[in-house]
Amino acid sequence: MRTLLKVQRLCVSYGAVQAVRGIDLEVLTGQIVTLLGANGAGKSSVLGACMGLVALASGSVTFRDEDISRKGTEQIVHRGMTLTPEGRFVFPQLTVHENLLIGAAGTSALRSRTQQNVEKNFDLFPRLRERSSQVAGTLSGGEQQMLAIARSLMSEPELLLLDEPSLGLAPNIVDQIFDLIVSLNKSGTTILLVEQNAELSLDISDAAYLMQAGVMVKHGTSESMRESGDIHAMYMGV
Ligand code: ATP
Repeated sequence: MRTLLKVQRLCVSYGAVQAVRGIDLEVLTGQIVTLLGANGAGKSSVLGACMGLVALASGSVTFRDEDISRKGTEQIVHRGMTLTPEGRFVFPQLTVHENLLIGAAGTSALRSRTQQNVEKNFDLFPRLRERSSQVAGTLSGGEQQMLAIARSLMSEPELLLLDEPSLGLAPNIVDQIFDLIVSLNKSGTTILLVEQNAELSLDISDAAYLMQAGVMVKHGTSESMRESGDIHAMYMGV
């Protein structure tokens, strides 16, 4: 397996706040990798830096062997990496279908496959097909999360960054979202997943990283991380 994403010695600062302090992270093609950490550990800042949404104070981000540290978000999306942000951010006044069309903005080759990609998404999320003309603001939380993921898929990412997709959802909906992440991965999308739900994410991922206060404190296979005392202490109340 080749390295798809490589983050090296990444630092992110917001004024005086040093949110990320020199972390390394690697995602191989075909993997699901989980980034764990408590609130404020710096996980979203890492994803934001990968997507060109927040500036790197120092360090580098390499995607498909190209240094993208100083690229804009649109260029990064065109290269095959997309983010589904925390909090879903669907356009509440637009219909499900219109929300998907917004995700399709990009190269002309991509735009020419818009209808095909809408259909693919509706096959993956039959509930969205049923609600195609419903305005997104009236969808349930789980349906909005599905729509947010579906919209990210409209740009045909090779690597999908998912920021806390289970946040605020009922347990049965969380299970559905995790099943979906697994099936997306099986169909060829590599996934970098930020989650608070350590147990479920370790179950579906190949490798995991643990951040604390801007620093990467541990990483390894999901199996070895599950045994790790740090994860137990932080998430599983042991
Ligand atoms: P959560 O799970 O709560 O989303 P996180 O691990 O994703 O947390 P970040 O959102 O990356 O953490 O935040 C890391 C630190 O950076 C926090 O202390 C946060 O307050 C700070 N921070 C994040 N965004 C900004 C910003 N735009 N301006 C100032 N400080 C910020």
